[in-house]
Amino acid sequence: MTHRKRKSSKIKWSLFASFTAVTCLIMILFWVLQQLLLGTVYEWTTRSQMRTLLYEIDYSILESDSFTEETASLAENAGTAMTIYRVDGNRYTPIVAREERSGVLHQLEHEHISALYEKTREENGMLQDSFGNLFDDKGFSATQRKNRILSASITTTKNGDTYFILLDTTAVPVRALFHVMQNQLSFASVILLAVAAGVAFLLARHIAGPIERISAKARKMSKGVYDIDFSEKSYQEIEELSDILNHTTEELSKIDRMQKELIANISHDLRTPLTMIVGYTEVMRDIEGENTPENMQVVIDEATRLSSLVNDLLEISRIQGGKAERKDERFDLTALTRDTVARYERLKQNGGFTFAMEAEGPAFVYADKNKITQVLCNLLNNAINYSDTRRHIVVRLIEKEGVIRTEVIDHGIGIPAENLENIWQRYYRGEKTHRRGVHGSGLGLSIVREILDLHGARYGVSSVVGEGSTFWFELPKDDATLAPKCV
Ligand code: ADP
Repeated sequence: MTHRKRKSSKIKWSLFASFTAVTCLIMILFWVLQQLLLGTVYEWTTRSQMRTLLYEIDYSILESDSFTEETASLAENAGTAMTIYRVDGNRYTPIVAREERSGVLHQLEHEHISALYEKTREENGMLQDSFGNLFDDKGFSATQRKNRILSASITTTKNGDTYFILLDTTAVPVRALFHVMQNQLSFASVILLAVAAGVAFLLARHIAGPIERISAKARKMSKGVYDIDFSEKSYQEIEELSDILNHTTEELSKIDRMQKELIANISHDLRTPLTMIVGYTEVMRDIEGENTPENMQVVIDEATRLSSLVNDLLEISRIQGGKAERKDERFDLTALTRDTVARYERLKQNGGFTFAMEAEGPAFVYADKNKITQVLCNLLNNAINYSDTRRHIVVRLIEKEGVIRTEVIDHGIGIPAENLENIWQRYYRGEKTHRRGVHGSGLGLSIVREILDLHGARYGVSSVVGEGSTFWFELPKDDATLAPKCV
């Protein structure tokens, strides 16, 4: 219990920690960028703003009657100090002036203005630079030299008047702006952190909740309860996990049911021959004249049934244990099939069974002869067991495209289409209550399947209920030129 709690809170906390860390990182990045870049970006914006302003104050404004007001208001909106001089030779008459306390314009002497004018002319009528770069004058403070940007342009109106426009702007954002931005950033940081924590919490609950429920159900399943619905509505991965677990419980409960049925069937199959053997031998011991060959035959038959059942169980446990190995050899499948069918013919003719063997000639394969014999026997046993009244069984060997296809065809009860997949499963038996005379362990076909899988062979069945079944398997033809003589 404590283990579970610790695990789920781990998801919560790690999500929470990651979200908080990412948020902090983003905020730190913002702070650093603000500190480092605000000045640069501010200066860059101011410069471009001033250039735009200089373009705006063209001759149409300068020629208008209200140009003093218009230019002054443009300068005010742009937050810059400005002086416009009418230039007449070497005389500069200020006609509009908007000053700033920390600005430099009101400190400019005639020689400064004329030097600036010359420079602007050299620069094709437009100049922009920091004050310190333009003048290394001791009369100005270091802050002024560093922080003020001068923008200048020369405009000539249609009637020949020349104007020299000088803008003087600060390149550093005012302190108040810094404070506003810092406050905003702190506020945003707190909100972002709270949102991150909330999202992390919801997300963790959304992930950890279903996982906790699934593991509680899985714990139940481990105790053998299979009637569980794992379905969860959550993320795709969790839904996939619950689907897989649902499928697993289905499979487990199927195997569980089959195993229980098998035990019931096997104990029944073991008990019946044992009762018969004990009964008959007691009669033969106690009653004179009962020691007849017929009675002895019953005992032998029942003992044979027991031994074949035990053999099946041993075979399947060997295969399950992975001990099945192939001891391949080259042999004639036609001869082997013919021999096997002949044995069955001798054994089963009393029961009215007839067998037909159809083959074109020797068909050599390279496989484990004993195991293939076992496959043939299991298929023939089933053909016999499920034949009902039409007791004719055909075994056909067909050679095509490099493979030998063996078909065991009966005319018996057939298999319903919905059972065709199940019959290959271990412990599956078509009929729950086993009929007397039909003896099988429910392992015959799964042994066939394991052996054919071991050989990498293709196999299958086609069946029509009431008409019969055809079980088939294909082994590659062995085409060695020096074929040993078929015995
Ligand atoms: P068993 O025969 O011991 O029950 P098998 O594994 O050999 O076990 O076969 C599984 C099931 O497949 C059988 O119980 C039967 O329902 C069905 N089956 C197998 N062979 C045939 C067949 N030739 N005709 C009809 N049903 C068959």
